[in-house]
Amino acid sequence: MNQPGMLPRASLLIFLLFLRSNGLAQSPQDRFINVNGLRLHFLDWGTETKPPLILLHGIGRVAHTFDHLAAHFSKDYHVIAVDMRGHGDSGWSADGAYLVEDYVKDIEKIVRQEGAVFGEYPDYEPGHYTFLADYLPYSTGDGMEHRNSTVMTEPASIASNRRRLLDTVAHEFFHGWNVERIRPRSIEPFDFERANMSSELWLAEGFTQYYGKLIVQRAGLADPRATAEALTEFVESATVAPGRAVRSAEEMSRMAPFMDGGITVDRTNWPNSVTSYYSLGGAIALALDLALRGRSGSEITLDDFMRAMWRVHGKPGGSREGYVDRPYTTDDAQARLAEVSGDAAFAKDFFDRYVRGREVADYARLLQRAGFSVKKRDGGRAWWGDVRLDARGDGARVGAVVPANSPAYAAGIDQDDTLTQIAGERVTSADAVNTVLSRHRPGERVTIAYIDRTGATRTASVVLAENPHVDVTAVESAGGSLASAQRAFRDRWLRSQQ
Ligand SMILES: [Zn+2]
Repeated sequence: MNQPGMLPRASLLIFLLFLRSNGLAQSPQDRFINVNGLRLHFLDWGTETKPPLILLHGIGRVAHTFDHLAAHFSKDYHVIAVDMRGHGDSGWSADGAYLVEDYVKDIEKIVRQEGAVFGEYPDYEPGHYTFLADYLPYSTGDGMEHRNSTVMTEPASIASNRRRLLDTVAHEFFHGWNVERIRPRSIEPFDFERANMSSELWLAEGFTQYYGKLIVQRAGLADPRATAEALTEFVESATVAPGRAVRSAEEMSRMAPFMDGGITVDRTNWPNSVTSYYSLGGAIALALDLALRGRSGSEITLDDFMRAMWRVHGKPGGSREGYVDRPYTTDDAQARLAEVSGDAAFAKDFFDRYVRGREVADYARLLQRAGFSVKKRDGGRAWWGDVRLDARGDGARVGAVVPANSPAYAAGIDQDDTLTQIAGERVTSADAVNTVLSRHRPGERVTIAYIDRTGATRTASVVLAENPHVDVTAVESAGGSLASAQRAFRDRWLRSQQ
């Protein structure tokens, strides 16, 4: 679909950029069409036999915005530039429904909910904050925070990917406090010649990741099902991903210079030793928020912790523009938690276990307070590991590192081995392996025949396990009933804070 350098046959280009219209070499035809009861105006640059190219403008713009571009493209395309409803010569929606304008209203809800977390907005140096959104079919997905703006790019449209795009909006705007002003000492100041290795990205990125999802829910822009999916991702990164047993959250943070944009020449074992500090940090934020709420009757929350970080480390700013005078360390963050919770022992215990250590919080117990259950996704089904298998004529080849927490790994299966038989049945694909496994139960032992990475023919005995993957679901959507205490806890956590 979105091959670089090629325009799809009917391109939908949403420009939120400000383009200038210059003198014209060629004039379009003014035309009108009735759509859903609205009379829409568009500029037809001809010619009908050429592939269509539809230009949709952004906020405050009109079809003529594209005049200088359209003239150029009309050599190869049938260019149509539309006045969107309520713009130019097109009619106005009777109920005030406009795609881009509605999207801006969504962003405003996010901005207000995040303002409510911190109680105030930063002093943006230009006096305002700017969202630059380039949603174009040929772009690469990314969001980048700056002190007073963000640039968000996605090869996706607002119409079909609204929630996902808003997740990025919420994440990046939160960085205006957390990272741009509440800054880890390890990245202050930036060193553009050497990597700034940081032990605090679980907080800088991970807590931002958590709030991105939470805020979209609080703003009423995500349904509980989407929030449950986000919770599942956090819980899985802390409980199922094998890297958690190898590195702490601080150690994961220090992997950033090697992984965030870095490319290795050699193979690594990182799938077994590293978990993203985004999702792992999000899982830590989730555990801390629920733990604080649980021990205080929802009176003290992670919002209080973020406000404390803001008050001490972010708000004072810096004597030099773009720098902060009081960047934080992990010990500082622990001290803020001790102040907010009024319990230094609780803060030390939490940091020792989940930030400096490799322990896993009891998510089932924590989430149960809010009426969410953590259940095995495929409980009772036999599992030999999340092993990537590529179909080959002579068998199924192991195409990636085998997870260290899997029965396959325990049996000695490794990358580049080629499976030929399981339990006496010939297999040449992942589907065939799954079909055989579906006839077995956890705890059963099966024999695997394979050609190992050196070319030797081998057999191994695998003790099948239960699939460890979990789903977080709202108890009422799983047929249960939500107790009033659970409803109250959940409401105070997920509802609008305004
Ligand atoms: Zn980020």
